[in-house]
Amino acid sequence: MNEKPYLDTKTIAPQSGGWLKINQGSRLKITDLDGEQVADLFAVSCCNFDEYLSVGTTRAALYKLFPKTGEGFFSNKYRQILTIERDDSPGTHDMLYCACSTEMYQKMGINGYHNSCSDNFRIAATEFNWHPEVIPDPVNIFQYTQITAGKMTPLPAQTKAGDSITLKAEIDLYIIVTACSMDLEPINGTQCSRIKIEIIHN
Ligand SMILES: [Zn+2]
Repeated sequence: MNEKPYLDTKTIAPQSGGWLKINQGSRLKITDLDGEQVADLFAVSCCNFDEYLSVGTTRAALYKLFPKTGEGFFSNKYRQILTIERDDSPGTHDMLYCACSTEMYQKMGINGYHNSCSDNFRIAATEFNWHPEVIPDPVNIFQYTQITAGKMTPLPAQTKAGDSITLKAEIDLYIIVTACSMDLEPINGTQCSRIKIEIIHN
């Protein structure tokens, strides 16, 4: 009998996104394959698309800017839906920035099209029939935001190739992860690169 610990694995190309379904009790492992790459994470209940991961609720529930290992992320219904089980990265993540978008890149001076986490979210969500009017603010895994006297400075992710974080699902979820497209600020190092997502069943 072959053990099959991995139910599903996806490698997300630079400046794109992907989704997976994860059952309660299984783990989601997010790996920065090449280093210095931010992964935007979104999650929604499989049985109720009105319940989704809310970074605002998470901050309010924990009285923190970001949960530590053993704590987790809450839905807009004030329910913990993911728990940080392991953090095999430098531990710098962000829950303050919105997903990058066409409008953000236009504001930064891009005239033509630019890939964005918002567009990549829409593409992925549409594949499992989630069509939210407003894109939820993501958990920006591996993003390094320096906060000094209330000012936010986006700096290169501190991750090295192979760094990862592992989250346990507390309910059945669809998760969307994007490999952030930002190449006008240094959050993704010198170039946008790949992210791997894996579901590990219990
Ligand atoms: Zn982005």
